[in-house]
Amino acid sequence: MKAYDGMYIGGAWRPAAGQDVIEVVNPVDEQVIGTVPAGTAEDVDAAVRAARAALPAWAATPPAERAARLSALRDVLAARADEIAETVTAELGSPLKFSQAVHAAVPVAVAGSYAELAATYSFEEKTGNSVVHHEPIGVVAAITPWNYPLHQIVAKVAPALAAGCTVVVKPAEDTPLVARLFADAVHEAGVPAGVFNLVTGLGPVAGQALAEHPGVDLVSFTGSTAVGRRIAAIAAGQVKRVALELGGKSANVILPSADLAKAVNVGVANVMSNSGQTCSAWTRMLVHRDRYDEAVGLAATAAAKYGERIGPVVNAKQRDRVRGYIEKGVAEGARLVAGGPESPRERGYFVSPTVFADVTEDMTIAQEEIFGPVLSVLSYADEEDALRIANGTVYGLAGAVWAGDEAEAVAFARRMETGQVDINGGRFNPLAPFGGYKQSGVGRELGVHGLAEYLQTKSLQF
Ligand code: NAD
Repeated sequence: MKAYDGMYIGGAWRPAAGQDVIEVVNPVDEQVIGTVPAGTAEDVDAAVRAARAALPAWAATPPAERAARLSALRDVLAARADEIAETVTAELGSPLKFSQAVHAAVPVAVAGSYAELAATYSFEEKTGNSVVHHEPIGVVAAITPWNYPLHQIVAKVAPALAAGCTVVVKPAEDTPLVARLFADAVHEAGVPAGVFNLVTGLGPVAGQALAEHPGVDLVSFTGSTAVGRRIAAIAAGQVKRVALELGGKSANVILPSADLAKAVNVGVANVMSNSGQTCSAWTRMLVHRDRYDEAVGLAATAAAKYGERIGPVVNAKQRDRVRGYIEKGVAEGARLVAGGPESPRERGYFVSPTVFADVTEDMTIAQEEIFGPVLSVLSYADEEDALRIANGTVYGLAGAVWAGDEAEAVAFARRMETGQVDINGGRFNPLAPFGGYKQSGVGRELGVHGLAEYLQTKSLQF
């Protein structure tokens, strides 16, 4: 157990204004592994002032130099990958192999992509008798969740820095240690003082103070739809920009011509990965009624394989919430074919990999986001029915389509109301825009579209 001290503000670790701390718990054994300061409005104010003070010089720094700092940051993240993976495993509970392959590796790729984009993006363009300058929006407040704790920070900080913005990050209360490690990495990469700042703290205290701060020009938030709505309301009151990456309830549509076993196995793996705590997870599997029983059998067998391998969910509250959804599924008449609400272990916040069959669209488990290893399998009568079910939630973050013929899958994907669709198991692409239709969010992250979120245009006429 270690008591971590200070907030990273203005290029150095400074004592927090208050005495309160947040305990960081290892979800595998429920032991407190450390404490971090619980920031107050005073800490937030100091961080925003530091970011404002650093803004003019950073905004005027040539893109090539900003690219060089991001390149250095990528190298530091790569060099410290083991430490990052171990830290995420300790505070999030994900198996070490997954932490290495995803939690530590993806941020290296994303930081690298923005090093390249900063160097190659046209920050100036001509149109008719105008020259259009793409200028940084200003001071960015980045409020992030715990499920991909470093990725979500880097997906905001790297494009913001590439654009010439300065940043204050408020990471999730459950995973502040990897955020502190990131602050050290930024420091080591030679990013000038005040360009990046970190305030740990509670959402309704430090998070809210940051969103409300008049010195912030853009609030970039990833998290629940409920909090996203509050942040959008605050931003509207001050006419400041807002980017929201919110929840999801993605459909995995298996068309009749698909390789069923592959589609089901990859679909189950997608949901169980990171213990089901992935906003873009394909938590609804849609199968034609002629192949439904076969698909349910395959899904149950596949889910059972994850029993020993899966990590816990992040905390007791999340575990109880997920178990509550499983109980609700049973109560509403869905059929459990794998897992269930009982705790599979005595210690730790574990939830059994769970599969429900006979799920209908109107059930709570088919409509609400369950942030845990729970898959619902639904049946459809024909393609139109499948499309109606796939589009029948308030969310639209991601999805998947499987078909024997790629063109058939693409035609279906084009009719889905969602920001991302994986065709026949297409891989994650860190350069492709990521973000939601409908209540899954506003704005896009990653790649060139993610960079554009941090820029505003100024047109000069000649
Ligand atoms: P959350 O909304 O509770 O918290 C997210 C962040 O907001 C945390 O840093 C928290 O401290 C802060 N926060 C909480 N209340 C606040 C307030 N009143 N004002 C300002 N900040 C506040 O979400 P969570 O439970 O940590 O994360 C899970 C959710 O995030 C899921 O719904 C998931 O789908 C979503 N998510 C979305 C994406 C995406 O890209 N669309 C990615 C990951 C997670």
